[in-house]
Amino acid sequence: MAGRIPQDTIDQILNETDIVDVVSRYVRLEKKGGSLFGLCPFHSEKTPSFSVSPAKRIFYCFGCHKGGNAIKFISEIEHVPFREAVQTLADAAGIEIRLDEDESYRQRREAEQRLRQVLLESARFFYRTLSVQEGNEAKRYLLGRGISVPTQRAFGLGYAPDAWDRLTLHLREKGIAETDAIAAGVCQRASNGRLIDVFRNRLMIPIFDFLGQIVAFGGRAMGEEKAKYINSKETELYTKGRHLFAMNLAKKQKDEALIVTEGYFDAISLHAAGLTTAVALLGTAMSSRQAQLLAQMDRPVTLCLDADEAGINASLRALELLRQKQVFASVVTVPEFKDPDLYIRKNGASRFKALLETKMDELDFKLRLIEKQARQDDGELDVFRYQREATDLLAAEENAVMRELKAELVARVLHASPAAVQEEVARKRRNEAETAVETPRPKPRASAAQVADETYVLLALSNNPDLQKTKGFALEEEDFLEEGFRPFFESMQGAMAAKRYSYQYLLSLVEEAAPELADALLAAAIKSEQADGGTVMYRRAVAALKVRRFEREKHALLEAIEQAQDEEARKPLQNLLKEASEQYNTWRQKRI
Ligand SMILES: [Zn+2]
Repeated sequence: MAGRIPQDTIDQILNETDIVDVVSRYVRLEKKGGSLFGLCPFHSEKTPSFSVSPAKRIFYCFGCHKGGNAIKFISEIEHVPFREAVQTLADAAGIEIRLDEDESYRQRREAEQRLRQVLLESARFFYRTLSVQEGNEAKRYLLGRGISVPTQRAFGLGYAPDAWDRLTLHLREKGIAETDAIAAGVCQRASNGRLIDVFRNRLMIPIFDFLGQIVAFGGRAMGEEKAKYINSKETELYTKGRHLFAMNLAKKQKDEALIVTEGYFDAISLHAAGLTTAVALLGTAMSSRQAQLLAQMDRPVTLCLDADEAGINASLRALELLRQKQVFASVVTVPEFKDPDLYIRKNGASRFKALLETKMDELDFKLRLIEKQARQDDGELDVFRYQREATDLLAAEENAVMRELKAELVARVLHASPAAVQEEVARKRRNEAETAVETPRPKPRASAAQVADETYVLLALSNNPDLQKTKGFALEEEDFLEEGFRPFFESMQGAMAAKRYSYQYLLSLVEEAAPELADALLAAAIKSEQADGGTVMYRRAVAALKVRRFEREKHALLEAIEQAQDEEARKPLQNLLKEASEQYNTWRQKRI
């Protein structure tokens, strides 16, 4: 069965299942305090350490630390997956599992199909309009930009006529619902209520996804209109930055470096020039999703973004993203001209191909930038600045061979010997290594007492959510340790507000995100039925958490004061320290 079992159904099954009944089919249980004990079915033992809490509806073994709810028990003992365990319990409880999400999934799929149909029908309409007489001006425009008819066809280019509702009428004729036409982003409601076309008198460029299905359109003005491009709004099918323009074509060319450009016409021009591995970001900044798409192709990448400052910064960011995904990337800068499209139109395809041969790897590109920035207006090199920044860069490079190769390059710029540059880089690396040893500070570990108190208040709250309102004892996120239950506190507060907070809820959160804490939670629940011990115990535990918290804050502040540069920096820290000390003393009083 596809789709997920709704959480409501799971809750209902757990509520209507008697865990003692379930476990008793496998284990003989005897009552001891608030819990039932028996010999563990998961490990071999002579004295019972396996227990069940009917109140909390959980089981836990103090010997092998297996524990959880009834679903977990069935899944463990029958060796079946979660889903099947749920089904078993549902059958026993006479609850029918309805996979609601299947229905919504199906509806979403159908809606997507309809949007695709609208986009495809629109693309056909634009394409046909380009080929007839009224598309002549657009055709001339394309040919004038060096985009041949075969390239026009490969990209499925089209033309949106200079009229209010030609596409709208066409889609209506095809029986397409107005809501779908609007949802697909090709029609819109005018202020007078009439349905009209979004794109008018524009060159139409379909955006295809990786699989070659149309997800959106870009519409380019051919004159001097204010908006050079109009893009489809974001829809169910299209989110900005999730696609790479022309990837559906570029992926067909095997084993060649992918060329990444910024705009539609950069990619189209490159394809027209025979460089059919070009794609476009459709924006300046590469998204991490786009980096992921490139990484999937498992091919080297050549970045060919605009040569202005924004383009250079975008290249640096893209290099970073691609390195994280282990993609080998290099950079080509287009001299004098703003973008690849202009360069090709001015200098021709063969000059551009020669330019591609001058591509630089990441270090070369960065060294070139450092050099450029270190050159004064008269071209004179600021030697001190260049050597400092260049050797910093090389010192950060992990690959020893690269360090040596690039040291030669730096030496040439400086008119120094490569050995001298290498020595300086090595010195910086040693310094780096020394300081690096000092920096990692051990995180405060959650002591057993801390975990016990955190567990206690959370259990107590699950029994009696009103405790949270105990006057003067409000819990805050900072009372919990990062390594403890702090990450869960926020979701639990939300659940409390929605009156959904329960022990089971907390357990499921913790089991998923921090299984090592689930053990403490299960053990505490079984051990201490004192978690139902009312406000006195609760206050004591909260106070203990607060005392430890302000003790931590005092230590951190003392350390910061010690490291502060001067009196001005120390002053505010000392004020904070005073506050923390006062809190600390107050809570120590309350603890007793
Ligand atoms: Zn056991």
